[in-house]
Amino acid sequence: MNPASQKQNLLGLPQGGLEALLAEFGEKPYRARQLLQWLHQRGAADFESMTDLPKKLRERLETAAVIDGPTLMSEKVSADGTVKWLFLSGAGQAVETVFIPEAARGTLCISSQVGCALDCAFCATGAQGFNRNLTTAEIVGQVNHANRTLPRRSNGEAAITNVVFMGMGEPLANYRNLRPAIELLISDHAYGLSRRRVTVSTSGIVPQIDKLGDECNVSLAVSLHAPNDALRNRLVPINRVHPIAELLDACWRYADKHARRFITFEYVMLRGVNDGTQHAEQLADLLNNKPAKVNLIPFNPFPGNEFKRSSRDTIEHFQNRLRARGLVATTRKTRGDDIDAACGQLAGKVKDRIRVRLSEKNSRVVSA
Ligand code: SAH
Ligand code: SF4
Repeated sequence: MNPASQKQNLLGLPQGGLEALLAEFGEKPYRARQLLQWLHQRGAADFESMTDLPKKLRERLETAAVIDGPTLMSEKVSADGTVKWLFLSGAGQAVETVFIPEAARGTLCISSQVGCALDCAFCATGAQGFNRNLTTAEIVGQVNHANRTLPRRSNGEAAITNVVFMGMGEPLANYRNLRPAIELLISDHAYGLSRRRVTVSTSGIVPQIDKLGDECNVSLAVSLHAPNDALRNRLVPINRVHPIAELLDACWRYADKHARRFITFEYVMLRGVNDGTQHAEQLADLLNNKPAKVNLIPFNPFPGNEFKRSSRDTIEHFQNRLRARGLVATTRKTRGDDIDAACGQLAGKVKDRIRVRLSEKNSRVVSA
């Protein structure tokens, strides 16, 4: 066995964990804050460079811990400035991370699992099946890599102003590793993002939505995609476990915990499937007078998938129907088309995936 594998990877340790480790060495808690800054703000790749830590401590860290960032396989830059990284995640698998620069913000879209067990009908990640959860270090490692390599914004701010868990995987099915990752994202000594600028997107694992609301208080996006259970059962199979009424109750509980917080409902526009006027009306019935915003996502096709993208006119009409009913509705701009970096196209194409049968997938989802 590689002795390095027994060492703790500091990239995944939030402040409390670092303090505990340093206490074993008889060090004061403020050393943990220094370490966080070195690791996450200055992007240190080794202990030697941490020159304001005593030499003895650096040596002890060397024997007990590692700074083990993700292994980069490729980086592609789109004509529109979007960047996509592919990171090796073992056994011929990979996960993807996408950076989307805009005038007012820089959004990093990160992955939480290798593949996904939830098998949504229109998603390339779902089509590859579930492989494994990412560790906290692997989740944070994506942010660490992007933060180290992206140039600062023209106003001098760090490149990443927002992080969204909208890459590969279902973040709430990996809650155990998600929570400390969020802690690092919002820590002033690490990435210093406001909770509002960290968004967890979920297809609707209700008990975990409640937990997230109690423990993390970040922004929540919910992949609704259909306004009735019959259609949602088909598009988002987890709906059979947590149907729409139960899911929406959890959303309103979430919003109630945090005053003035809106929930974003994602709705992928599939031609002739969920994009009719009647669907817009049903959706408005569900969300009217609630703290809800709707984000329409033009479907991004991928090989072997049956669906087609709704036309621009249909999407506009759908959005206008929602607006006429008093809802805030926007349409997501598709970015990074030329490098397959758009929502739902992330599949970490390395080699053939291990497919997990649905029955196995469901038991994993429930036990996660
Ligand atoms: N598992 C989480 C987060 C990752 S997916 C979730 O489902 O919310 C991020 C968003 O991309 C979700 O809203 C998802 O439904 C959407 N998406 C998946 N496949 C897509 C596709 N082919 N075209 C457009 N959006 C897609
Ligand atoms: Fe998983 Fe989200 Fe894709 Fe559904 S849309 S299969 S939950 S990654």
